[in-house]
Amino acid sequence: MSNKALAAGLGSCPRCHKLNVMLADKQTCSRCLTVFSARKPKSLEYTLAWTIAALVMFIPANIYPMMVFYTFGKPDASTILEGIAIFIQMGMLPVAFIIFIASFVVPLCKIIGLFTLMYNAKRNTRLTLKQQGKLYHIVEFLGPWSMLDVFVVAVMAAVVNLGFITSIEPAMGITYFALMVVFTIFAAESFDPRLLWDNHQKHNHNQSFPQKKYQNTDTQLHDK
Ligand SMILES: [Zn+2]
Repeated sequence: MSNKALAAGLGSCPRCHKLNVMLADKQTCSRCLTVFSARKPKSLEYTLAWTIAALVMFIPANIYPMMVFYTFGKPDASTILEGIAIFIQMGMLPVAFIIFIASFVVPLCKIIGLFTLMYNAKRNTRLTLKQQGKLYHIVEFLGPWSMLDVFVVAVMAAVVNLGFITSIEPAMGITYFALMVVFTIFAAESFDPRLLWDNHQKHNHNQSFPQKKYQNTDTQLHDK
């Protein structure tokens, strides 16, 4: 969906993808009756707000203890990274690796990805439209992977049962972590990928790939 369609007064329905004539800012789809806008209103503003909120939550999520371990009755509070260190010390490398990816790498990549997307929707960048599209799909794809933490909790429960640790209690850090995950989901949901197309065309208005391609084949045909 390009801003050429937008300029032609057409908008794509987000639910059934039917092209509708946009008579007003908000249009009811003639096929499925979904009310939609040609572009998500204030998409960048909302995405920026949610991403900053997620970034702010990322800090206490890593500073405050995520859980309190009781090893032989002795309490030991640990942050995400300290927890990972404990699992490495216990020789449980796969568990340490999963927690590191799920709790640290994935959220950080998602926040960086969101900032990059917003920058791409606003400024002229060296990334091609294809690369920008790929980035958007990666950020979208990372969403459900935050759910890996559910798996981590299951693994922890198993570890407790094995008797290495007598009990684990959640601590304050987990609240911030949960908020951060929710905020990145809202941020990705607020982002309108069509802004990437709009911005790309704004900066490259003289070159439209598909048209050029067809023009070339046209001239080739005429030459023959
Ligand atoms: Zn529709």
